[in-house]
Amino acid sequence: MGSVEGATASPIIEAEKLTKVYRSGRIEVPAVRGVSFTVERGEFVSIVGPSGSGKSTLFYLLGGLTRATSGRVVIDGVDFATLNDAQRTQLRRHRIAFVFQKFNLLPTLTAMGNIEIAYSVSRRKEPLDRAYLDHLSGLLAIKGRLEHLPSELSGGEQQRVAIARALVTRPAILLADEPTGNLDTKNSEVVLEMLMRSNRELGQTVLMITHNPEAAAIAGRILHMRDGQVVSVERGRGASNGNGMRPESGGTTAVGQV
Ligand code: ADP
Repeated sequence: MGSVEGATASPIIEAEKLTKVYRSGRIEVPAVRGVSFTVERGEFVSIVGPSGSGKSTLFYLLGGLTRATSGRVVIDGVDFATLNDAQRTQLRRHRIAFVFQKFNLLPTLTAMGNIEIAYSVSRRKEPLDRAYLDHLSGLLAIKGRLEHLPSELSGGEQQRVAIARALVTRPAILLADEPTGNLDTKNSEVVLEMLMRSNRELGQTVLMITHNPEAAAIAGRILHMRDGQVVSVERGRGASNGNGMRPESGGTTAVGQV
């Protein structure tokens, strides 16, 4: 399939026997080793594991930021492997939004300026929906902070602006990589709560990578990674809200049931 138009009935993310081997000279580092799972629309899934277990590599593969050595990533019915670089970029812009540990806000622009420029880069046909942005700002509790520069905001506020920037394009998937990694406990809790609300109140599909089991627990489903593989799947606290959680995924399961 060479189009970026998605198929709405399929899972939003399908990872099939994904592997990624980094090569430097004669040394090969297998960072992701045969990972398969699916994420349904409206799910909140965490991927948790210790440092070096392959989480970031999996994040880059799912976000189309790096190519798999083997296996497939299908986003909203579209297989990354069938796309050229320009089409992959287009798929990313249209379907995926990213939130990173280091907020990545442009320091010379206000919070609003950051949101507007990201929207313009996403090349949506329709103009930015100000009413929706207003709704998001209320949801994320950043109303009144939007005319400030990032340096005038707390870390938690900066991350909430980054989440607003990600959500304003109405992405099919929000991919978050250690979104609380740079925050103190209080701000971490607020940011996690905001991610949870975006999932529950907007139906946003969220996939969050974290090394922190407590943060991971807010999801509906938790995939545990070790040595480049998903070794177990666990039901998270968010599962009780019926956010796309499949009943058979309850409790900790063997990896074959992913
Ligand atoms: P995590 O995010 O769980 O810390 P990573 O995906 O960053 O794990 O890393 C998984 C493994 O791949 C580690 O052994 C790491 O050293 C290795 N790795 C990550 N990126 C590269 C790279 N660009 N080149 C070579 N090895 C890498």
